[in-house]
Formats: sequence, C-alpha cells, structure tokens
Amino acid sequence: MPAMAALPESAELLELRSIYKTYGSGERKFTALQDINLQIRPGEFVAILGPSGCGKSTLLRIVTGLNSASSGTVLYRGKPLTGINPHATIVFQTFALYPWLTVQENVELALKARGVPPESRQSRAIKLIDTVGLDGFESAYPRELSGGMRQKVGFARAMAVEPELLCLDEPFSALDVLSAEALRGELMELWLNKSIPTRAIQMVTHNIEEAVFMADRLIIMDKDPGRIVAEMSVELRHPRQRKDTAFQAIVDRVYAAVAGKTLPDAEELGQVPGKGMTRRLPVARLNALAGLLEKLSAEGGRVDIYRFAADIQMELDDLLPVVEAGELLGFVHVQEGDLQLTPLGLAYAEASVLGRKEMFAGRILRLPVISWIYETLQQDDNQRVARQYFLDKLRPDFHDRTEKQLERAINWGRFAELFAFDNDTDELYLE
Ligand code: ADP
Repeated sequence: MPAMAALPESAELLELRSIYKTYGSGERKFTALQDINLQIRPGEFVAILGPSGCGKSTLLRIVTGLNSASSGTVLYRGKPLTGINPHATIVFQTFALYPWLTVQENVELALKARGVPPESRQSRAIKLIDTVGLDGFESAYPRELSGGMRQKVGFARAMAVEPELLCLDEPFSALDVLSAEALRGELMELWLNKSIPTRAIQMVTHNIEEAVFMADRLIIMDKDPGRIVAEMSVELRHPRQRKDTAFQAIVDRVYAAVAGKTLPDAEELGQVPGKGMTRRLPVARLNALAGLLEKLSAEGGRVDIYRFAADIQMELDDLLPVVEAGELLGFVHVQEGDLQLTPLGLAYAEASVLGRKEMFAGRILRLPVISWIYETLQQDDNQRVARQYFLDKLRPDFHDRTEKQLERAINWGRFAELFAFDNDTDELYLE
C-alpha cells in the first residue's frame, strides 16, 4: 500500500476525462460509454444512477483499473492510471468468500495480500470484524451466515485494504430489505464518523432512494449510448429520513431526471430507417402496459411514480420501459416524478379487448418504424416481405440490437393485428 501523501481538500482524487468505451467493431460496434467526464473530490460520496445497461459497472471497472477505456484519460491524484488502481477497492453485489475459511481467516487473507505482517493480522482482523458489527462470529463459516452477514464480511475484507477510494457496485441489491437497510446504516456510520481511512466513495446503484439516502452527489446516466445526462447534489443532513418531504422532493426530482425526459416530437417518435436515428422501442410487455393503465385509472389518474413502483412491487428497472411505452403511445405523461393518465390512456383502460387493439393499432402507426414496415408490406404484391430486408434497413441504426428491435416491432404489430411473422418462410406479412 503506497503511503498516503497529504492531499489538499480541493484537489481531485479522481478525474475522468472524455472516457469512451466501445465493444466489438465495424457494424457490430457498440458504445457502452460515451464522453464521460467526472471528478471526485476527497470527502465525497458519489452515487451513479441509471437503468440497467447504461454502463455503470463498466465505469466502475474502469476507475478501479479492472477494465480499460477505449479512449480518454483516468487521472488518479492527478496522474494517469495505468493498470489496476492500487488505491481503490471494489465491493460487488455478492461477495465471494472462501467457504473453507472462517470469517476471521477470510479477513486475514485480505490483510496478508496487503502485506500486513502475520503477528498483527489477527488483531487487525478482529477489529475489522467488530467494526462491521460481526463480533462473536469470527470463527463462523460463510455457510453459517445470512446473506447480510456475508456481505458484511465482504465489507470487512474491502476495509482491510484501507482503500482511499471505495467503489461499491450495487452492494445492497442482493440482500433482503431489512439487512440492506441495516448495512447501509452501518456503512454510513463508519463513513461519517471517519472510522475508516476511505477518502471517497463511489457507489453504483439503480435504487434512487438508496442514492438519496447515502450520497452527496448523484450522477445520472442513461443508455444507448451510456452517458451522463444529469448531476445533482444532495444537501440533506445525516442521518437522512426517507419520510421527510425534503427527501421525497429530491427523490421526485431524480425520478423526473431519469424518466421524464421530454424530447422534441421528431426525436420522440424517431425517424424512418436510413433517415437518421430510428427510435428504439422499449422492452415493455404490452400486457403490463394495460395493467399499468388500469391501475393508474383506479388510483385516480395521477400517482407518484416512485411510490407507485413500490406499491405494485415492481422494480423501477422493469416499470420504466412500460412507462416509456405508455408515453410513446400517448397514454401517460410523466412530469416531476408523477405519472399521469392522459384522456387517451383512460379511454384505453376502459375499452374492451377489441377496442384496445384498434386504439393500439392507431397509436403505433404514428411511430415511423411501424408505419414504414406496414407500408412496405402494403406495397408488395403478395403483401409479404423477407425479414432480412427489414434487418438490412434497420442495421445502420441499431447495430447488434437490430434483431431484437425488429422482433419487438413485430410483437407490437402482431398485438395490433397489423402484421405478423411467418416462421416457415421467414417473412413478414400483412394481417
Ligand atoms: P450497467 O452496470 O449499467 O447495467 P454495464 O456496464 O454492465 O451496465 O453494461 C453496459 C453495456 O455494455 C451493456 O449493454 C452490456 O451489455 C455491454 N457490455 C458490458 N460488458 C461487455 C462485454 N464484455 N462485451 C460486450 N458488451 C458488453
């Protein structure tokens, strides 16, 4: 472990300059991170929020040196990072402990790896185990512990390295609600009381409330391509109370930043393939959309989306694409973290199955990609066109996601009874 030189409080601990990360090449090239610029100062707890696939984990791996950027610079204490970052440690969602070693031996191993001499390992390990609230469990084996306790051992092991920068990748998401909450509280206590030598924490999460509960600054990312879309500071005093109106107001603002991006109409609906960016269809189950509209109607047509997700016991990650589909079709409207049913959405919720199909068809025909498929089929003499034709046209816009996007368009088209797919001939045809 390199000695920690005194560091002026204003200096950056970590600086990312125009980081790009791409996977694959040529037509298959996929941009996982686009132009990421980020600075972290000593004393900061920064949370990175965003939907699955927006590159949060990739970003964390680049910071710790487990992955390298395709271009751009990572500066740690002002110096370009090459290889593994010796000052950073990462805690993952599930921590791999050695099952044949006791809690204490697992922690001692981390101390050994750090070069701590044998005579002081034992006492240091016991102290760390005590710090994370596991005293009495030193000689237990991992299989004897609950998930929350195992994750505590993971934290103890991470602390053993005394990282200057502690990187957390969804560290609480595999735990049950109570263990997660307890462990968050314990980590905050260690951090705020400066019981650990860590100078900054960078946590990846998709849990908005968790981020607002813990962090000083929130970095909000979006995907396709993975990029930073907003930044917010949280200036509430600790310990933060989730039920406080100020707390909830921030949660709403973050939600609005994550979900309620109002795009110009053309961009909202996308373009015909080949004319620019074609809008991606969200991964939404159409039955879930109908369910959402019905529930929303039963709730009086307007709900706080964050609380709504909790009420219907749906992960935000699963709910967001459904909301996005609803927005795209004009059935719901998202504003300031509230989800609102439009008159059209209400009509849909109250319509019969057949009525819904008709409305749905009318709405999706407004989407350029759907109307383009529909018109292409209409213009064909047999009203049948090879799937490959559509794939070729869509490829420049969707790259390796082309098959998925076409599949989704076919699903929507089939649901609306506009067009369908013939497996035997590999063709799309008009219904
Ligand atoms: P998040 O943590 O926000 O869910 P990730 O950083 O795991 O996102 O992934 C970002 C995107 O990069 C995803 O679309 C994922 O499929 C893609 N990706 C990650 N690792 C690889 C890889 N080794 N090869 C190709 N694509 C990858």
